[in-house]
Amino acid sequence: MNIQKVAVIGAGTMGNGIAHVFAQFNFQVNLIDVSEASLQKAIATITKNLDRQVTKGTLTAEQKEATLQNISTHTQPATAVADRDLIIEAATENEAVKLQIFKSIDEAAPAHAILASNTSSISITKIAAATKRPQNVIGMHFMNPVPVMKLVEIINGYATDASVTETIVTLSKTLQKVPSVVNDYPGFIANKILMPMINEAIISLHEGIAGVEEIDTIMKLGMAHPMGPLQLADFIGLDVCLSILNVLYTGYGNPKYAPCPLLVNMVTAGKLGVKSGEGFYTYTPGSKELVVSTRFKKH
Ligand code: NAD
Repeated sequence: MNIQKVAVIGAGTMGNGIAHVFAQFNFQVNLIDVSEASLQKAIATITKNLDRQVTKGTLTAEQKEATLQNISTHTQPATAVADRDLIIEAATENEAVKLQIFKSIDEAAPAHAILASNTSSISITKIAAATKRPQNVIGMHFMNPVPVMKLVEIINGYATDASVTETIVTLSKTLQKVPSVVNDYPGFIANKILMPMINEAIISLHEGIAGVEEIDTIMKLGMAHPMGPLQLADFIGLDVCLSILNVLYTGYGNPKYAPCPLLVNMVTAGKLGVKSGEGFYTYTPGSKELVVSTRFKKH
């Protein structure tokens, strides 16, 4: 299938990145959000990120302008998806919100349209079951930050048609991404493997085996990871990590996925990582510069 017109639902961290990448590769993008403020913020972020590409020399000033011209913003999904070939949902990670979005876009989008979700952990099969076209529903899981990260984890729901998967694989390559296709089980692959590692790092800290810096240094330098698991957890958001671990724990019914009580306590106390200014590290507002929190200093 030839995809030309795209809609992105949700203009937050991921939605603005997804819109940016599609627009840069000359797709017409309708960016949709319930919040006008989110839409304005998204355009400002995309402009800033495009400026950075121009400064680096990876994009010309004309290409920057053309990319921005390819994006229009909307608050009414029904009209904004009516002529689209592909709709990618990147709204808040909340099952009820996503099921409602898919039910309504299924009614408003053309029959041929593919409906994709960028969810990190919600079942694609369940999302598909909220529509009358489960064969046309698929997971298209971009990584953050979308313009930089190469991977797209493509998730086949139980009913996803093979031709739809093929279309999304080809499309991902057109966006100069690297697609990897997996089946729809809790956490897919990325988070099924990443989250237990992060949880084990938190358990090790909780048990007093090592401090924050020691754990992150060992994993960074010993395993050639670009950042340690505790810093990565702060970047992802500790609330997001907890909710994905709960999806794995309930989905597989296996105690090995049980979230560490320290993680639960930190989320309950509002220590969510970079976004709240404190997690395993502390952050100066508006910056990702980290300082090891004295609370977790071991030596
Ligand atoms: P976010 O909170 O930054 O943005 C969500 C946006 O959705 C907000 O602008 C909100 O106004 C909008 N929204 C909420 N309900 C809506 C509705 N009914 N219709 C239209 N817009 C609506 O969230 P995010 O971090 O961009 O995450 C979006 C999705 O991407 C989630 O499913 C998340 O699991 C997934 N994801 C996030 C990351 C990440 O690192 N942040 C990485 C991969 C996948």
